[in-house]
Amino acid sequence: MLIYNSLTRSKDELVPNEAGKIKMYTCGPTVYHFAHIGNLRSYIMEDVLEKYLRYAGYDVKRVMNITDVGHLSSDADTGEDKMLKGAKREHKTVMEIAKFYTDAFFADCADLNIKTPDVVEPATNCIPEFITMVQGLIEKGYAYVAGGNVYFDTSKLDKYYVFGEHDEEDLAVGVREGVEADENKRNKTDFVLWFTKSKFEDQELKWESPWGLGYPGWHIECSAISLKHLGEYMDIHCGGIDNAFPHHTNEIAQSESYLGHKWCNYWFHVRHLNDASGKMSKSKGEFLTVSLLKEKGYDPLAYRLFCLQSHYRKVLLFSWENLSNAQTAYDKLVARVAALKDEPENPADGETADQLRRSFRDALDNDLNTSLAVTALYDVLKAKVSDGTKRALIGDFDRVLSLGLLEAASKKQQETAAPQEGDAEIDALVAARTEAKKARNFAEADRIRDQLKEMGIVLVDTKEGTTWHR
Ligand code: AMP
Ligand code: ZN
Repeated sequence: MLIYNSLTRSKDELVPNEAGKIKMYTCGPTVYHFAHIGNLRSYIMEDVLEKYLRYAGYDVKRVMNITDVGHLSSDADTGEDKMLKGAKREHKTVMEIAKFYTDAFFADCADLNIKTPDVVEPATNCIPEFITMVQGLIEKGYAYVAGGNVYFDTSKLDKYYVFGEHDEEDLAVGVREGVEADENKRNKTDFVLWFTKSKFEDQELKWESPWGLGYPGWHIECSAISLKHLGEYMDIHCGGIDNAFPHHTNEIAQSESYLGHKWCNYWFHVRHLNDASGKMSKSKGEFLTVSLLKEKGYDPLAYRLFCLQSHYRKVLLFSWENLSNAQTAYDKLVARVAALKDEPENPADGETADQLRRSFRDALDNDLNTSLAVTALYDVLKAKVSDGTKRALIGDFDRVLSLGLLEAASKKQQETAAPQEGDAEIDALVAARTEAKKARNFAEADRIRDQLKEMGIVLVDTKEGTTWHR
């Protein structure tokens, strides 16, 4: 498999440290609010990567942290702790906020068919591990205490900006105007490993440490948590592109200084989902959540399809129109799968089936090209093979794509099989619309479609005719 590696800035052949095994780490959510669908784009694409690696036969271990302490409102160690901000907003304790939004995050993941990683570790569970690592960095001369806080000394490194590929705006994060410079830092790129003094005295969660009562910086948690569960050598580290700097840059600085050797070989970064106004943000009033999509009548899996239709390294533009198109495509796909006869796979289709499988794998082997993998799925529906073979291939591909196609199709079949009150009226209206379209009376056809929409009926036009569901 070729995978784009932010470290080398090229598509590299994936070669794990240990044959057949992949150790994978994902930066988890900061649980001070609901995840927006931009955050979830990153988790969907990381989920596809994990599932594809398993599909390709690797034994994968994936670890994710939950950031429930230490992530300040600016990634450059300034501002307020995001968790504290959430707690104040909702008049709750930090741990209540963490529990509520962690559960909400996994509920969103379930709606989007995102698998829970093998290990999920809240940062507040690992305070002793953070302290050990910070102590080690001080002993090795990579960290210093100033003004009560412990800082990583970036001047001790041969190379700090390992990814190279940053927006100017990203690079300015440590020196942004209007942000008070931290007088304790020896170099502007130094970052906090452990806080005991900050501008806010009301930090709720504090722990004893050799440097006084305090709490960890955000970056140290991912280094220490991955070390705890994955050991000293890691294969793939994932996150949204905004994590590349300063978060991942700092993770590499402290992990490799602590370990004394290279730590992680491949860095997988997902570009952002933007809305018309630009970057998505949780601080804007109503932000886009999975619940909001559901309230508006969208299936979360239509959003998953929307994400899969474009490459993870391209910025994706969200609009309701784009999502509606994905919903229509998803409904059609389910309708086509539901129309397949439920029969066993036909061994006579072997060669064609192998070819279809190969194009699916070729797509994903080429830097996780999910849009081509979705095309391979459509090719199955068009192929000259039996319905049973089509179903088998769709089930196989969906182990990776996780669009829930067979499940949705069987639900649809059940709905169609069990007539409900009012079905006859709807059938009659759908037939009248088809007649109107045939007679080129489009105004009438549209009127009927609107009437059905009012009744909560979704029409799906396919080459084989129009189907409907509630
Ligand atoms: P956070 O909860 O802020 O720590 O972010 C969780 C994940 O979402 C991180 O991997 C971020 O890099 C990623 N992320 C943040 N904003 C976006 C976005 N608009 N599109 C895609 N991923 C994002
Ligand atoms: Zn992280």
